[in-house]
Amino acid sequence: MADTTFLDWPFFTDRHRGLAEAIEQWSAANLPVDQGDVDAACRDLVLNLGHDGWLEHTAPDPGAPPAPLDVRTLCLIRETLARHDGLADFAFAMQGLGAGPISLFGNAGQRAWLKKTRSGNAIAAFALTEPDSGSDVANIAMTANRYGDGYVLDGEKTWISNGGIADLYVVFARTGEAAGAKGLSAFLVPADVVGLSIAERLAVIAPHPLARLKFERVCVPASAMIGAPGDGFKIAMATLDIFRATVGAAALGLARRALDEAAARVRKRQVFGGALAEQQIVQGYLADMAVDVDAAALLVYRAAWAKDNGAPRVTREAAMAKLFATERAQQVIDKAVQLHGGDGVRHGHIAERLYREIRALRIYEGASEVQKVVIARQILSGA
Ligand SMILES: Cc1cc2nc3c(=O)[nH]c(=O)nc-3n(C[C@H](O)[C@H](O)[C@H](O)COP(=O)(O)OP(=O)(O)OC[C@H]3O[C@@H](n4cnc5c(N)ncnc54)[C@H](O)[C@@H]3O)c2cc1C
Repeated sequence: MADTTFLDWPFFTDRHRGLAEAIEQWSAANLPVDQGDVDAACRDLVLNLGHDGWLEHTAPDPGAPPAPLDVRTLCLIRETLARHDGLADFAFAMQGLGAGPISLFGNAGQRAWLKKTRSGNAIAAFALTEPDSGSDVANIAMTANRYGDGYVLDGEKTWISNGGIADLYVVFARTGEAAGAKGLSAFLVPADVVGLSIAERLAVIAPHPLARLKFERVCVPASAMIGAPGDGFKIAMATLDIFRATVGAAALGLARRALDEAAARVRKRQVFGGALAEQQIVQGYLADMAVDVDAAALLVYRAAWAKDNGAPRVTREAAMAKLFATERAQQVIDKAVQLHGGDGVRHGHIAERLYREIRALRIYEGASEVQKVVIARQILSGA
């Protein structure tokens, strides 16, 4: 049983505590899923999470008065899903990230899509990265040129989660209002638009749907633009401001699971005439793991609480949460693998699965080094 004492912290309301219990029960009943066919597993997860109402938390209801996303809710759900099944966390998170620019900046017509992403009837994707533009977002080369009443998109996107199974992509392209970051705009592009193709499916260490996309003279109406011309970078960063802390929450869930598994194993495993847990070096490992887990939780829920309580931007807090939670989760999980001995590296063992699942979180939505740059810039600017 995972430690839930953090729910008593003042970051949460009773609504959050009730929700944490409900998602725990849902996860225990439905996860993990069979991942033999990762596309099918993801589609099913999105449908089930939508059917049971969990995806309603990933975007505001387009039929209701505008309401901000509750970041603590997103973090609690991600932490819990990740603790049970990394793919379930992925399926949930991508509905939020993919729809994020529409939730935050979409007009009424664009927001109609949210009805489908919230119910699990449409799968969303966020297409920012390109072969020559990952960490350096301002270097985006994909173009969106005016053509009649609309725009023509040409270029490539890569490392796009849900690529291949998504129904809609939010795509960032260069419209050229200014050089660099100020010349980008965001577009809502349905997956079945003419000229958009899946150039390559990408297989990674912890499989999930991932692709390189090709845009060849893809025509979209002017109404596909999210926000104003030149707002693309601002939209991408505001979206990441919210979802970065939730990546930290997912890492926290993986780390908490690793700690639980390690504690259970060292209690049971007999070595040198006693339980492995009696060895003081082992106790030292457990203590380090527990401190990392709690410190990560404090940073993650501090960022979420700050955003929910009206902070206009939580750039520094979200970057700290993501950096610390993902880096320390890697260390926590590595210790869990170590404490499982040979079992820890056996294919299919939970420790081995966690070891694979954590790795990409230190790279996507801004690599750890980029988070350090973000934090340092905030300090130096006095923000
Ligand atoms: C599993 C997975 C899923 C992803 N999903 C999506 C998605 O859905 N949508 C999307 O748009 N993108 C997605 N990405 C792309 C991801 O955001 C990029 O991989 C990431 O931003 C890094 O870009 P890059 O791979 O081009 O690495 P590069 O930019 O080439 O960087 C390589 C490394 O250099 C170091 N580095 C970079 N900049 C600095 C710096 N300023 N100072 C010091 N060191 C630095 C870091 O260690 C970094 O990991 C995904 C990636 C992965 C692995």
